[in-house]
Amino acid sequence: MFRILRLFRKLPFNILGVANQKVIFMEFFKGFEKVDAVRGIFGDKTSEVLSHLTVEICWVMGYMYVDGSDGHLVISKGYLNTGDKTDIYLDLIHELCHVRQFMEGKELFDPRYDYVERPTEIEAYRYCVQEARRIGLSEERILCYLRTEWMSDYDLERLAKSVNISLP
Ligand SMILES: [Zn+2]
Repeated sequence: MFRILRLFRKLPFNILGVANQKVIFMEFFKGFEKVDAVRGIFGDKTSEVLSHLTVEICWVMGYMYVDGSDGHLVISKGYLNTGDKTDIYLDLIHELCHVRQFMEGKELFDPRYDYVERPTEIEAYRYCVQEARRIGLSEERILCYLRTEWMSDYDLERLAKSVNISLP
């Protein structure tokens, strides 16, 4: 461990703190302020919110989430580069719901609830499932979108039920 720390000191920059790129949502995801599903979240404030929303492009593998300390959006660079474009779009809609919830002072990571039963998650999932249907995804494809590798079959079932997606 000490040897590793010594090695870090010799490097020209701190490798542990490699600066995550920070961008402004509206400059990075161009045109989102005109998307009806996004306007449905922020209404007349859409451009104002998106032009102030910081997006941190992070090196750690994962998907995306809203940082509970200041409400900025964190997105994994790997996911952005290699993830399915439709999944990424729906995730953005989902996370923008959380951005609004955060602005309303809601607790995004309320530990009293399981992930699939947390009211803030159900609300965000319901909204992005509605958008998924609107853009023409099949129920099967939406179910596939809802499934994540860390979710058990039972949790997926509970989530699907909450957002009215029928299981095969
Ligand atoms: Zn969520």
